[in-house]
Amino acid sequence: MRFVTLGASDSIGASCHLLQVAGVGVMLDAGTDPDEDGPDGLPMFDWVRKRSDVFIDHVLVSHAHHDHVGALPVLVREFPHVQVHMTRPTRELAEFVLPASARLQKRRVREGTATSEPLFDEEELDLQSFLYRSHDLERRFRLNGVAGAGAVDAAFYHSGHILGAAGIELSFEEGDRLRRVFYSGDTNIRSQSIIPGGSYPDQPIDVLILESTLGADPEAELTTRRTEELRFAEGLRRVWERGGTAVVPVFAVGRAQEVLALIDRYKRHGRLPAEVPVYTAGAMRAVAELYDRTRYSSPRLNQEFVVENVDQVRLPRSSAARRRALQEPGIHVISSGMMFERTLSNRIAQELVADEKNAVFLVGFAQEGTPADRLLAADARREESGEAEVVLDPIRGSQPLCCQVERFRLSGHSHRRDLLRLVERLSPTTVVLVHGETEARQWMADNINFFYPDIDIILPETGVPYEL
Ligand SMILES: [Zn+2]
Ligand SMILES: [Zn+2]
Repeated sequence: MRFVTLGASDSIGASCHLLQVAGVGVMLDAGTDPDEDGPDGLPMFDWVRKRSDVFIDHVLVSHAHHDHVGALPVLVREFPHVQVHMTRPTRELAEFVLPASARLQKRRVREGTATSEPLFDEEELDLQSFLYRSHDLERRFRLNGVAGAGAVDAAFYHSGHILGAAGIELSFEEGDRLRRVFYSGDTNIRSQSIIPGGSYPDQPIDVLILESTLGADPEAELTTRRTEELRFAEGLRRVWERGGTAVVPVFAVGRAQEVLALIDRYKRHGRLPAEVPVYTAGAMRAVAELYDRTRYSSPRLNQEFVVENVDQVRLPRSSAARRRALQEPGIHVISSGMMFERTLSNRIAQELVADEKNAVFLVGFAQEGTPADRLLAADARREESGEAEVVLDPIRGSQPLCCQVERFRLSGHSHRRDLLRLVERLSPTTVVLVHGETEARQWMADNINFFYPDIDIILPETGVPYEL
């Protein structure tokens, strides 16, 4: 079998891998790099187009985050015969997040903040969406090859990351032996507040394609979800008691709903006064509706929990009204999670950072160089020298950092020791490390090498094929 990564390999970037197995071209994910605009954020589809012996028959989408699904419309346009597979909730989420992305791209062109034309529009998505096939968890389905005329069996496994997120198992005959590949997608072996921990196939697996997001985070494995949840509750309560405002930057899909579930629990258990207003905005409300609608048909810790029933105030749209809302103490659960420029969480943080009674509480992963990462770096500098400045948006320029900045390990990804446990459990002969910055993948490689020296490790480079 031949494996090639077409997305980023030394950062989180766009997830997109191609396997040529048993005469079938199977693509795993078709994401965009959240840090890039337009064509720069796309995987190297050109790599396939330029080669007559390489083909894509099927694409399997692990989940509906942009770094895994954002390039799907471009892929389907460029390779119109490709068949698209995902879980049912991922399909519902994709049918919401892709049109939202099309509208955002169009708006950026109108506002003059885009560097290129939109990659796709809503009309095109309408035409494409009937091509998406959805599948139940742990139910095998067959992928037939068109050009090579072979066959591969595939199955999705709940991955514990967000609604609908799944790992992907592929099994097929090669020569005279049965081979099995498992792609983790984004995975969390432990339960969060809404979504239970992942399920995985029984061993033996030949090849494990494993995410490494938190491979360079030594703190995450030293905490437990329970202690982080308590610390987060305590942090929010203190901000409220000193009359401050806290912003919790979140990904609109997944992290937002998990954080709302937590805050709801804090209020019910008296860890946070019931009167603390919780502001939310935009897309995350539509996503909450999807979480609620699928609660009896996809894995859930408590099927009775309804995200939309959590007490929330809609953040005013006008910036004047928003500024007034920020004067009052409260909690703002707002996207984007990495505080990209021009998103609401970035704008709100700009209003809050100069006052020490306020707080920015980060609950997800902060990619290197993003505003969330710059804020953490400024906080570290402040710890050393007593004061620091931060640039949240170059247009605004540098601002004094006076508010509290705290990071809570409430990620939707497994920490690195848990990823090693997953390697042990699946006991593969080869591990391909993807979806992590260089340092993160290197830590994973060194540790797999140390604990399981018989396992072959591959750190794939973009556009380089590997025979597995
Ligand atoms: Zn994800
Ligand atoms: Zn991801």
